[in-house]
Amino acid sequence: MKSAIYPGTFDPMTYGHLDIIKRAANIFDEVVVSVLDNKEKTPLFSVDERVNILKEATKELPNVKIESFGGLLSDYCKEKNIYVVVRGLRAVTDFEYELQMSQMNRKLSDNKLDTVYFNTSLKYSYLSSSSVKQIAQFGGDLTDFVPEFVALKLYSLYGQNK
Ligand code: ADP
Repeated sequence: MKSAIYPGTFDPMTYGHLDIIKRAANIFDEVVVSVLDNKEKTPLFSVDERVNILKEATKELPNVKIESFGGLLSDYCKEKNIYVVVRGLRAVTDFEYELQMSQMNRKLSDNKLDTVYFNTSLKYSYLSSSSVKQIAQFGGDLTDFVPEFVALKLYSLYGQNK
């Protein structure tokens, strides 16, 4: 069975992430989407909330599993015995950081870990969790960016009456 891990902050998951999850699930037998518990970032949603959002959004996808992890991605992959990492690439600006990370992960895993990149679907190429949060703060329309239940959570966190 060919499995892959899709790690990320997912604060919150957007349709851009969901698109990558669906496309990866069409290629791999199993996709483990893993929410990074990153102490360096101050996320809006807790790890549990981010996991629950992803679970709800992927409940119809039988080969997608949602988990969370802290620490090094290379250690987590070793623990799970999965050596393929999925990431999404939106623009050239993502590339430099992603390349560096993939090379470091490869080094830390004795050259076992490979990263597979999915080009963003054009309609999501400008979409990011941060822009979604900014729009929510001002009560803007999130219909094309996140599922409705996520939009409602965002509005409520920002005190928007929707
Ligand atoms: P990070 O893991 O870098 O903290 P995210 O949780 O936002 O940030 O992203 C997880 C992965 O999803 C990254 O590979 C990122 O490039 C990708 N991604 C984020 N938004 C999109 C999008 N709109 N289209 C495609 N890929 C995306």
